[in-house]
Amino acid sequence: MPDLLMMDGARGGSLANNLDQRLVCPLNLEDYQVIVENLPQIFFMADADGKITYVNKYLIDYTGKAINDRFSKKWWESIIYPDDFLLSAKAWILAIKLKDVFQIECRLKRGSDETFRWHFVQAFPVKNRTGQISCWVGTCIDIDDSKMAEIKNKQMAAIVESSDDGIIGKKLDGTITTWNTGAEKLYGYKVAEIIGKSITILYPKDKIDEFVEIMEVIKMGEAIDHYQTVRVKKDGRLVDVSVTISPLFDRNGQVIGASTIARDIGQYVELERRKDAFIGMASHELKTPITTIKAYVQVLNKALSQKNYDQTASFLNKIDLQLNRLVELISDLLDISKIGAGKLELNKEVFDLNNLLDQVVDNMKHLYPTYQIKCNSKSGIKVYADKNRVEQVLINLITNAIKYSPKSKMIEIRIEKNKYKVIISVRDFGIGISKAEQKRIFERFYRAEGVDEKTFPGLGVGLYISSEIIKRHGGRILVSSKKGEGSKFSFVLPLK
Ligand code: ADP
Repeated sequence: MPDLLMMDGARGGSLANNLDQRLVCPLNLEDYQVIVENLPQIFFMADADGKITYVNKYLIDYTGKAINDRFSKKWWESIIYPDDFLLSAKAWILAIKLKDVFQIECRLKRGSDETFRWHFVQAFPVKNRTGQISCWVGTCIDIDDSKMAEIKNKQMAAIVESSDDGIIGKKLDGTITTWNTGAEKLYGYKVAEIIGKSITILYPKDKIDEFVEIMEVIKMGEAIDHYQTVRVKKDGRLVDVSVTISPLFDRNGQVIGASTIARDIGQYVELERRKDAFIGMASHELKTPITTIKAYVQVLNKALSQKNYDQTASFLNKIDLQLNRLVELISDLLDISKIGAGKLELNKEVFDLNNLLDQVVDNMKHLYPTYQIKCNSKSGIKVYADKNRVEQVLINLITNAIKYSPKSKMIEIRIEKNKYKVIISVRDFGIGISKAEQKRIFERFYRAEGVDEKTFPGLGVGLYISSEIIKRHGGRILVSSKKGEGSKFSFVLPLK
């Protein structure tokens, strides 16, 4: 019996036992040599010190590299993936030192297409009857396909885990089997507390029938795409979600469960609600001046037909005022659609910002004589900006300051400049804005919802348009405010 067959380690141990039990393989040494040389996988041997003494034909064929310089380090370096080489060498030296089984996964270069394929490499020490290591025998098994599948699975798992959407797996009876971090964020349940529970825990009581309806579709192997509905969070709050549910099949094509991708569409639903409210208000705001103009035109018509010219000028003035309101409204609507389409263009020029501010303030004083508007504007600050758009922002901030200050009549405007930027701030001592609302007032169609605010007319688009204008100038618009004490809106324009 050749010493070669007395191997250590898991496999070697059982073979040695077999030999002890006299189940001796009826092959001679030459037969073994022929077998290992022609094995349909890589086989190698090393001496007790770990020096490679033999590799079979399969390795030479696989690498396409003949061994000229007997098993040199260079040869191994040329076939082992660079990142794996040092690790493999270290593990090999350690195994030899500890006289223990060597096991590693590394990539070996295939000569035919120059690709590196993952292999599971293992070697066992072979001991002689006195317990001395006489040599090492090893194999390299190509595990590339399963390794790639494993890597792909890990990548998929990482994608699922990092997704902001809730991704949930469930059985046909609704038992939850998988739950990603997105689902945790969306519904508030941790993985440990939800796995094994029924998905219906997320259904509001009045929507429980949806579960049966959804599963009927899934059982037929069909998917449900972007279905908008409502679910319940752990804390009992409702959340608007869009869900896509797809069947999960086993190897035989049988439906065994479903995967759900759920997205929080609360913000979108809220925006839609605000948009609807805006359309309602905008139509109303458009209709009011038109009705007024119509009435004045009729009165004017009558006065003219009776040659009564006394009040015509005043009627025409009133019509003009209403027409101005209409123009403002229509401009806002146009601006919103331009911003939405990314087409808000700026016509920049160099102009004196103090002059512009002085003009706007004078106009405002004229329009709102009961208000005391103070402004520190003095010397000429030149900016390169769109004059009309900056004027629009100024008018919006000052009219808001006036509109939302029904009791206090004081408005303070400051203009300041440093080397890089100019800051204009408009301060009022009106109703103020709560911290929570301050975060949202620059959103499209947003109007603060307090009792105070409800009494002021508006469409909730002025600040949105203003902030977009300032952003497009490379600047910022800011608010600081305290409920009941007033607000300060500032905008920063960079100086070129
Ligand atoms: P609108 O005034 O037409 O509603 P805006 O976009 O100009 O729209 O303002 C958005 C919201 O911000 C307003 O509805 C109001 O609640 C709040 N707001 C704006 N300016 C002020 C201010 N100076 N003081 C208090 N609240 C303000």
